[in-house]
Amino acid sequence: MNAANVLEDLKRRFPNEPEYHQAVEEVLSTIEEEYNKHPEFDKVNLVERLCIPDRVYQFRVTWVDDEGNIRTNMGYRVQHNNAIGPYKGGIRFHASVNLGILKFLAFEQTFKNSLTTLPMGGGKGGSDFSPRGKSNAEVMRFCQAFMLELWRHIGPETDVPAGDIGVGGREVGYMFGMYKKLTREFTGTLTGKGLEFGGSLIRPEATGYGNIYFLQEMLKTRGEDLKGKVCLISGSGNVAQYTAEKVLELGGKVVTMSDSDGYIYDPDGIDREKLDYIMELKNLYRGRIREYAEKYGCKYVAGAKPWGEKADIALPSATQNELNGDHARQLVANGVIAVSEGANMPSTPEAIRVFQEAKILYAPGKAANAGGVSVSGLEMTQNSIKLGWTKEEVDERLKSIMKNIHEACVKYGTEPDGYINYVKGANVAGFMKVAKAMMAQGIV
Ligand code: NDP
Repeated sequence: MNAANVLEDLKRRFPNEPEYHQAVEEVLSTIEEEYNKHPEFDKVNLVERLCIPDRVYQFRVTWVDDEGNIRTNMGYRVQHNNAIGPYKGGIRFHASVNLGILKFLAFEQTFKNSLTTLPMGGGKGGSDFSPRGKSNAEVMRFCQAFMLELWRHIGPETDVPAGDIGVGGREVGYMFGMYKKLTREFTGTLTGKGLEFGGSLIRPEATGYGNIYFLQEMLKTRGEDLKGKVCLISGSGNVAQYTAEKVLELGGKVVTMSDSDGYIYDPDGIDREKLDYIMELKNLYRGRIREYAEKYGCKYVAGAKPWGEKADIALPSATQNELNGDHARQLVANGVIAVSEGANMPSTPEAIRVFQEAKILYAPGKAANAGGVSVSGLEMTQNSIKLGWTKEEVDERLKSIMKNIHEACVKYGTEPDGYINYVKGANVAGFMKVAKAMMAQGIV
């Protein structure tokens, strides 16, 4: 395989999908050496079969708003690869959603799911519908209309969606209700469900907690821990909230959070009480982060990212490409020792280069945020055996999964000078398992 040629060909065949190209480039450039040690892979054109999704469903979603207007949105489900288990990956509702973004997410998800050690393939779906500013009734009608199309393509052993940006417990609940009605079956086809109807304890917390468990492992390699460390967090949604919660629990200090309008900087730290306020503001009132600055009298910077503030650790937890080369240089200049990604692909390729050249600890989302899908996998298991595990039991399993992922990254990513290249480690470890499964299953 020549990674550059494969990428050029994909760009020609699938133009106007820059995020998909970016994700493929990052993976291919790091697995090329390992791939080429196995000539049997190239004989069956494994690389193209791994980069191009198995199939993509694309559909129109029609719904009625509160004023009686008929509205249309696009809906998608990308089933990327099911070599090691049913397709599994979240659903994103955001105005920016398009096929290229979902293809990047489904591609990444395949390697991430492989890393978790659980039997899950990779998929992703979503719509350009934005729940922001919509009434509860509008969100419900949209979710129902979306599921009216999606239901025929998913199932407990086929494809198991979950939440992502714009899709939390409320949206999963509405989608599950419609799915159940259409199939006339109560199965665990969606994860992230409410506790009363098959959800798992710790699922809402899992991505944020998992990221911090992974960060702890990274810090250990340098004889450090979280106590007293100042952390920058972007976003204020599901991942950001529980990342902050775990940082506080372990004695760290969170000084920023953000949303798509801007960020707040609280030098005194966002303590438990202030975090409760953010959770209520975001999850209940669906307000803006600027309201935090008004309430607590701290700095609010409109239209900017938090990466210029001084800190020890950065935890990007909002969206893709939210941290560029300039931000990365600023973070390094300010003495940041670790960056661990709660979001998917938040750092641009240039930013990643800056982190790696500075030899700071840098964990890509594929490894660091795998806790979310891991507990989704545990939710599937609990649904299958029709039992619910305790909070402690799920948390212990999550911790051990994150530890294993860290070990896999160290195994495949340690460079001759001892620096751990977590990008390479995660990509090679995730890739090898999927590749071997595909080889064993023949040309399909
Ligand atoms: P939420 O919808 O709960 O929160 C998203 C947060 O990011 C909000 O604060 C939102 O602000 C902000 N945001 C979204 N888009 C942008 C943008 N274009 N620019 C700036 N800020 C933005 O989503 P999650 O917390 O679930 O997801 C966050 C990230 O984590 C995503 O990259 C997702 O793919 C990833 N992830 C999520 C997992 C999960 O279990 N939920 C699992 C693994 C990864 P606003 O309110 O203004 O839109």
